Amino acid sequence: MKSKLGFLFRLAQKCVILLAYLSSRRTRLIRNLFPSQWTKAGTCFQCGACCDFPTIVRPDFFFRHPHLFNFIVKWHEFWYGFRFYQCRPEHNQIVFTCTHLTPERTCDDYAYRPQMCRDYPEITTWFVKPDFFPTCGFRPVRKTDYEIEKAVAQFKYDWQAYSKQTENNNQNNESRGPD
Ligand code: SF4
Ligand code: SF4
Repeated sequence: MKSKLGFLFRLAQKCVILLAYLSSRRTRLIRNLFPSQWTKAGTCFQCGACCDFPTIVRPDFFFRHPHLFNFIVKWHEFWYGFRFYQCRPEHNQIVFTCTHLTPERTCDDYAYRPQMCRDYPEITTWFVKPDFFPTCGFRPVRKTDYEIEKAVAQFKYDWQAYSKQTENNNQNNESRGPD
């Protein structure tokens, strides 16, 4: 009996891992099929807002069809341990709280956390401008602007390195004196 229970437990574990994997593949597939014009810049400040209120973004028709809306809410509640908190149709957002967030503000299911938690803030939103938490260290930027920002930053970096090198060479030449 004990070994049977052990087998069932391992089987259930593998099913959860498989579903988590399929869910992450589905997310990536959607991203590849509908690449967003937005990307993110910045870094994580570890403010914790994305665990306080895990938020998903869905196209308009989810908000117009209650059965679809309810399905997506129940899905996230059942699979991810989220609890519905509020709907923000003006930003295409469904906001949850999370039962995995401990009083110490850690995740009690870190190894199996959903892909959306691993990727936050994810840019799957080809249909609306991403809207991050005000305390988030990331900010949404258009891909073209991002490329320009990156090129300018790289140019500044190269220019500073070049100036420094030239300055060092001049100092070396001066200290050596005329041949
Ligand atoms: S599952 Fe873990 S990482 Fe995801 S929102 Fe909940 S506490 Fe945060
Ligand atoms: S909201 Fe942004 S800055 Fe805060 S923990 Fe999440 S990713 Fe990091």
